[in-house]
Amino acid sequence: MLTVLFSAPAGRWTDYEGPLTRALREAGVEARIVTDTDAPETVDYIVYAPNGGLSDFTPFTGAKAVLSLWAGVETIVTNRTLTQPLCRMVDSGLEEGMVEYVTGHVLRHHLGMDRYVAPEAPGWTRVVPPLARDRQVAVLGLGALGAACARALAALRFPVTGWSRSPRAIDGIACFHGDAGLRPALERAEIVVTLLPLTGATEGLMDAARLGWLPEGAVLINPGRGALVDEQALLAALDGGRLGHATLDVFREEPLAADHPFWTHPKVTVTPHIASETRPASAARVIAENIRRGEAGEPFLFLVDRGLGY
Ligand code: NDP
Repeated sequence: MLTVLFSAPAGRWTDYEGPLTRALREAGVEARIVTDTDAPETVDYIVYAPNGGLSDFTPFTGAKAVLSLWAGVETIVTNRTLTQPLCRMVDSGLEEGMVEYVTGHVLRHHLGMDRYVAPEAPGWTRVVPPLARDRQVAVLGLGALGAACARALAALRFPVTGWSRSPRAIDGIACFHGDAGLRPALERAEIVVTLLPLTGATEGLMDAARLGWLPEGAVLINPGRGALVDEQALLAALDGGRLGHATLDVFREEPLAADHPFWTHPKVTVTPHIASETRPASAARVIAENIRRGEAGEPFLFLVDRGLGY
């Protein structure tokens, strides 16, 4: 019988106990799940979320893998006590939620909905938006989430450019990669969505120079990570009119401080890291499948490359 340690903030266990127990059974894995242990050396797998209190992996000498409940692993990937394989979360529920958030916010800006949802005064001012086919959108990051969003936007007929580290080919998306590919991905994009992981290579990526590559009045939607964007450069670009709006879900410091200028900036929409969340039912099946693979000697799914940081 395997021992699986569930290490996540208090409260998460209530959501996961049923789905995880069921998923392990369905995967044919015999395991007992614990939320704490006095015998860390007996733990076979660690299901992990940040803020669960676990930061020293040294005592888990028998652990075969750490299975993250989060897609973003920047807080754990640099942990020097972690020597076991680390797998990130790729979950159909997380993907669906992100597609809904991104398409919703892209359509808000594309259609100019704010003008009618919160009009400054009564006024029969007709502003007919262009068709989606005439509005270029860029998606930075073509991984599990970025590619799904790019496809959904393309299905709505937006011309979509995408950008990744290595070459990608996605039907209907003009794919660019590497340093040289960023400018062509951005320079005609009236709406840009950042769905990159936070790594040494992506931190501060959207700085004054890169924001300056966007067409005048472009909109930034960032559900990736706060530190992908240089905050001061963003505020300057909004104030100077270079950017039309920023919809931000993630921030360098979370929760966002009550006195942060983003809260009151007329061209900023803040959402409190709700773009998408791992869904217990589907995520539990991913965890169970990885444990089954580990026991069968098969390669883990969604293994993090510690060198690349994602
Ligand atoms: P993936 O690892 O599947 O994809 C990452 C993508 O970013 C890949 O296309 C990768 O390129 C690209 N990339 C990485 N580094 C670079 C670089 N230096 N230059 C260019 N492209 C780069 O991640 P996911 O799609 O699953 O998730 C993306 C991020 O979304 C997460 O890391 C997390 O930060 C964020 N997130 C936010 C949530 C929210 O609620 N706000 C919820 C869940 C995730 P390549 O294809 O070549 O590998």
